[in-house]
Amino acid sequence: MKRIGVLTSGGDAQGMNAAVRAVVRMALDKDVEVYAIYEGYQGMVDGGSKICPIGWNDVGGILHKGGTAIGSARCAEFRERNGRLKAARNLLERDIDAVVIIGGDGSLTGAQLLYQEWPGLVNELLESGQISQEMAEQHPHLTIAGIIGSIDNDMYGSDVTTGSDTALHRIVEATDAISSTAASHQRIFVVEVMGRRCGYLALMGAMAGGADWVFIPENPPDLDNWEEKMCQVMQLGREAGRRDIIVVVAEGAQDRYGKPISSSYIKEVLESRLGEDTRITVLGHVQRGGSPSAFDRNLSTLLGAAAVDHLLAAQPDEKPFVMGIRGNKITRTPLDEALARTRAVAEANAAHDFKQALQLRGSSFTESFNIVRTMVRALPHPPTPGQRRMRIAVMNAGGPAPGMNTAVRTAVRLGTDKGHIMLGISNGFHGLIDGDIREMDWMSVHGWASQGGAEMGTNRYVPKGSDFYAIARSLEAHQVDGLLLIGGWSGYEGVLKMMENRPTFPANNLPIVCVPASINNNLPGAELSIGADTALNNIVNAVDKIKQSAVASRRVFVVEVMGRNCGYLALMSALATGAERVYISEEGIRSSDLIEDVKQLAAGFSKGKRLGLVIRNESANKVYTTAFIRALFEEEGGDLFDVREAILGHLQQGGDPSPFDRILATRLTSHALNHLEKQIEDNDITCTCLGQVGGSLVFTDMEDVPRLFDMEKHRPKKQWWMELRSVARILAKPAPH
Ligand code: ADP
Repeated sequence: MKRIGVLTSGGDAQGMNAAVRAVVRMALDKDVEVYAIYEGYQGMVDGGSKICPIGWNDVGGILHKGGTAIGSARCAEFRERNGRLKAARNLLERDIDAVVIIGGDGSLTGAQLLYQEWPGLVNELLESGQISQEMAEQHPHLTIAGIIGSIDNDMYGSDVTTGSDTALHRIVEATDAISSTAASHQRIFVVEVMGRRCGYLALMGAMAGGADWVFIPENPPDLDNWEEKMCQVMQLGREAGRRDIIVVVAEGAQDRYGKPISSSYIKEVLESRLGEDTRITVLGHVQRGGSPSAFDRNLSTLLGAAAVDHLLAAQPDEKPFVMGIRGNKITRTPLDEALARTRAVAEANAAHDFKQALQLRGSSFTESFNIVRTMVRALPHPPTPGQRRMRIAVMNAGGPAPGMNTAVRTAVRLGTDKGHIMLGISNGFHGLIDGDIREMDWMSVHGWASQGGAEMGTNRYVPKGSDFYAIARSLEAHQVDGLLLIGGWSGYEGVLKMMENRPTFPANNLPIVCVPASINNNLPGAELSIGADTALNNIVNAVDKIKQSAVASRRVFVVEVMGRNCGYLALMSALATGAERVYISEEGIRSSDLIEDVKQLAAGFSKGKRLGLVIRNESANKVYTTAFIRALFEEEGGDLFDVREAILGHLQQGGDPSPFDRILATRLTSHALNHLEKQIEDNDITCTCLGQVGGSLVFTDMEDVPRLFDMEKHRPKKQWWMELRSVARILAKPAPH
């Protein structure tokens, strides 16, 4: 195969540009020509200048842009066989019989149809003399790789789809902003979000935004008088001290008879029954807008690369596949299966079989719904008479990570709802040593879902010597049954030390679960830690701005990012910003690398390049510091370019947690709490660390940590994201000639 086409179709989604860029560059790198098909299927049907070769530099400077640079459209003609006949002829005329199609379920349904009809279309074109026998013989089949570009996340075949993370960013920015005005005036806001017949955006938006009620199509209110129930909860919430109330409604929300529940109806109910001042905000196309999040850029990049690999490896008559992600792994699903399973949800919905609809969305969707249902309560369920009320302590430790508050809120609310007594430990191990421990109730964590920093306080202090005696006394004094630690490596280290001290201090014989929270993403037993996504977005936003500042000058930026000895933030931010070089601690820096890199930069600038970007992890090399690299490049660059350094520093740790981190924090903490509860019940004192591994949540015995973790460099021995190094390297290459 020497030629492929790429198109974006249907509703646009942030990240489509990253996917197109990756498709174009990965293919060109393998000597495959790429044709852009402009304006989706309309361009395929129209042909002419709408299907043209696209080059390496044509996809430069689009990574950070929303929308799609090659245009998208809805095309009625393509729905007819005659339109698809024209499309087939236009592709054949250019010797294209492999296409990457980036779009929603409508676009991919069209793709499946085009694949199925292809042999018939070729035959018809041959018989009507529109193509030659040779051409027909050369292209008997059409190979298709699909990428789901949809903010709705409404399709089977990927945990998340291109654009949905960015849409959640827009939703959460809006709900965060609305809560402050709602609180000032004690108003209720009804926020309507997109998603067509899928409740993903509403559910995750409500979870991440700490909303007070949510309506989704897959799980309509189960009571006929749901209005009454909702008003009761709102009323109780006010009495409990809630000033701001936010109700999130999916645009496809319905009652259990399939009658739409509109935002205006909810407003009417709340106003007439409660006399509350209620306002509606329909977020609309804002959700499709703006710069794609770091996650969407990287997801789309990897899917684009996978699509090219798929087309190149496909058998001549291979059926279409869609590229997706499960956990952090790229997956491929037959397109017909993905479409059939997606249709099954729509059918279950239409038949009002909501149990089935919810189930088909997957177990984590249902689990998230159940968590949100508890979190929106005005107050927890009262403890069941006679139940064991466990005393569970929660603490943060390590450097601050955005999402720590979200996690503590989840622990306190879910724990108290189970009837347990939740204890908050202030200031990490210092608080545990000093006995700075207090009971936390439902409202004590109100508003914490969206707050950056760590309200309970956190630091990197690791206990030693006589501290263990003090810790044992605190645990005894507060009769702690189990401990939930939400933090970074120094927290984990502290737990390991507590375990070592068990023989001397039997009070340490309690189960402990460590929940990974560190912007460095360097923790054992977890592929992603809470806070890393926020830090990554902070870096990417800063680098976007830095790049913009240099439009007119010929300049190289050397940007230093955090991560300690873990290159995750550096590599992922390089991938998301299109940096040409990244230096990470895992690989170190050799003087020969620097010489080679400066030569490459000089070659680029001498051919008209205007901007260079190099990202350096803070611990990449002790001698070749950021300042050193800047000076070296400056000297060697001569008149070709100047060099500036930017050390991003603590802005990376700050800010409100990203939706991804809030969702991760909520899900991990819920699992950790259930696990801890069971351990306490079973008198199991194993200490574990929790993390997402290959798409599942896994508890790793802390005893195994020294085996899995580089105790000197403070990072896991095996890091999944190192596999992305090769993609990053190819995409950052200069244009081939
Ligand atoms: P999305 O891809 O975002 O779901 P649409 O449903 O509007 O958006 O589909 C985009 C385009 O894909 C349509 O305008 C049409 O050209 C094509 N398409 C959608 N459904 C079909 C179908 N059943 N058969 C053929 N083409 C289709």
